[in-house]
Amino acid sequence: MATRIEFSQHGGPDVLKAVEFTPGDPAENEVQVENKAIGINYIDTYIRSGLYPPPSMPSGLGTEAAGVVSKTGSAVKHIKEGDRVVYAQSALGAYSEVHNVPADKVAVLPNAISYEQAAASFLKGLTVFYLLRKTYEIKPDEMFLFHAAAGGVGLIACQWAKELGAKLIGTAGSAEKMQRAKQAGAWQMINYREENVPERIRELTGGKKVRVVYDSVGKDTWESSLDCLQRRGLMVSFGNASGPVTGVNLGILNQKGSLYVTRPSLNGYLTNREEMDEASNELFSLIASGVIKVDVTEQQRFPLAEAARAHQTLESRTTQGSSLLIP
Ligand code: NDP
Repeated sequence: MATRIEFSQHGGPDVLKAVEFTPGDPAENEVQVENKAIGINYIDTYIRSGLYPPPSMPSGLGTEAAGVVSKTGSAVKHIKEGDRVVYAQSALGAYSEVHNVPADKVAVLPNAISYEQAAASFLKGLTVFYLLRKTYEIKPDEMFLFHAAAGGVGLIACQWAKELGAKLIGTAGSAEKMQRAKQAGAWQMINYREENVPERIRELTGGKKVRVVYDSVGKDTWESSLDCLQRRGLMVSFGNASGPVTGVNLGILNQKGSLYVTRPSLNGYLTNREEMDEASNELFSLIASGVIKVDVTEQQRFPLAEAARAHQTLESRTTQGSSLLIP
């Protein structure tokens, strides 16, 4: 028997319950992983709340963890029992002591990277990779806006931007978060509870504004993000922490300067083994060399059974960097 988190109705964090289950054997293309550290991602709250409904109920939750391979399916060649691995984009159910995962979603971990580092950075780091390298290629010295820069994805973006020699202008909701993002490598920070973001962007860029905005906040920042863009600039809308952007009149893109908009996701960028290897090798080498640090504070490490408290904390906007569940 093993423990996992399930929910049988949508709602607030309290719908998450710890249940006992008997793990089945992995299918021929899957591996079974004994999770040592589980990544908590904001998307998990969308699935729990019903914004992104799961395929069936009751449902497991979570798509990311790191651990040891305990069994392999008969067709799996590149991964063996005992391997230290990390995975993201699994079927829902990573909030569990044990999870069966398609082998093509699994990467073998370099020895220099711990389970906690891996679970705190894999999905978020792969996201930063495609956002800054593929959706739009950030150039050295380029100024750009990245919302929620002190969050899990955000702190990795600050460090990656610094490594690229670029000038990330971040937003965050408190002085402590602004300081943490600056330490991580943000060039400038804006407190969007106190300052007018488009005005600050104009000041910081000498009136030019930016060529690209990365916005994971969604509803609350959609329109002000467009006001930060140069003529023909690119709005990358990649999340909905404040709620989804709906009912957009496309004419607004014309009014605000012939703008472009994209709504990307990890599944649209890492679609096969080669794309996954390119992204994960680059991420692992930046973590192993200390360029990207993913330290998770004690307050953001939660026992698996306390997944509800972990979600409450994440949604309270008080967390900095990544949060983990520990089985
Ligand atoms: P974070 O740790 O960044 O947490 C979300 C942060 O959003 C909060 O800490 C808060 O920081 C900010 N925020 C702004 N407005 C709100 C609001 N109304 N309610 C709650 N939070 C708010 O989470 P993750 O690092 O896990 O994810 C960041 C974002 O990236 C999410 O929107 C997620 O969906 C998206 N994402 C998208 C992917 C993709 O491929 N499309 C992949 C991975 C993540 P503050 O108060 O300082 O602004």
